[in-house]
Amino acid sequence: AELLGVHVRASALDDGHVVVEAADVTESHRVARVRRDFVANVSHELKTPVGALQLLAEALLEATGDADASPDPAAARRFAERIQKESTRLGRLVSELLELSRLQGAEPLPEPQPVAVDRIVAEVIDRTRTPASAKEIEVLFRGERELTVYGSEGQLVTAVTNLVENAIAYSPERTRVTVKTRAAGGGVEISVVDQGIGIEPRDLDRIFERFYRADRARSRATGGTGLGLAIVKHIATNHAGRVDVSSTVGVGSTFTLRLPGRPPEASLPLPQSVEI
Ligand code: ADP
Repeated sequence: AELLGVHVRASALDDGHVVVEAADVTESHRVARVRRDFVANVSHELKTPVGALQLLAEALLEATGDADASPDPAAARRFAERIQKESTRLGRLVSELLELSRLQGAEPLPEPQPVAVDRIVAEVIDRTRTPASAKEIEVLFRGERELTVYGSEGQLVTAVTNLVENAIAYSPERTRVTVKTRAAGGGVEISVVDQGIGIEPRDLDRIFERFYRADRARSRATGGTGLGLAIVKHIATNHAGRVDVSSTVGVGSTFTLRLPGRPPEASLPLPQSVEI
């Protein structure tokens, strides 16, 4: 029998005693539910662009001319452009899902290595040049140099890139994004500060959830998948660190990645998430 997440088994012994065993299955239920919700979300998120691509391909075929209509090259071009945009987003969704499942899965964090924070920031600025210049946004590096963190350079670059890409995506043109670094409390803080649209207080707790977007329409328009911040959070956790946000609507947001400044103890394995 099962009562409120407690699995109960009773058995009678020969001597007339009864043994009652109880096991807490709340956690396994929670994990099973999270997994079910995740699969449902993934299916929905994949079906939407696939459905759009099917409709757009039909429209493109029609616009290239068929038995009842003459070709309309301008319309054909518009549909082809939208097919390109949707398929790029779909590709991104698939690769971010793979990234997330790698981070959450059995693969352990590679041996933590000393990583120069300057190198991370330089690489991120390099990677985000195209979206930044498309909106004439300046990405600046301010702060202490020669800081070191311990972990995977690849993962840390991915995390900070996601934060800077968001800062660019959710900011008006010709604003500024600043990456700030400093030593704090024996660790290192990397903050990404923008002058963007900001985040409503009611959304602040939820934006790190998979597929959660404060504004679906805007996220879609910017090619967002709703997975970027979930990936950042996992990377922070994998590094025994954390990510926090503070934001004012209409003023801007600051995302801060806090990382330990020394290698983790050999006897203390880095926490690995158990979800999915
Ligand atoms: P997305 O792919 O939609 O950007 P993320 O997981 O990266 O997904 O972010 C989740 C949501 O958090 C976004 O849809 C957006 O509403 C909000 N968000 C993230 N970063 C910022 C930011 N710098 N400024 C304002 N809103 C942001």
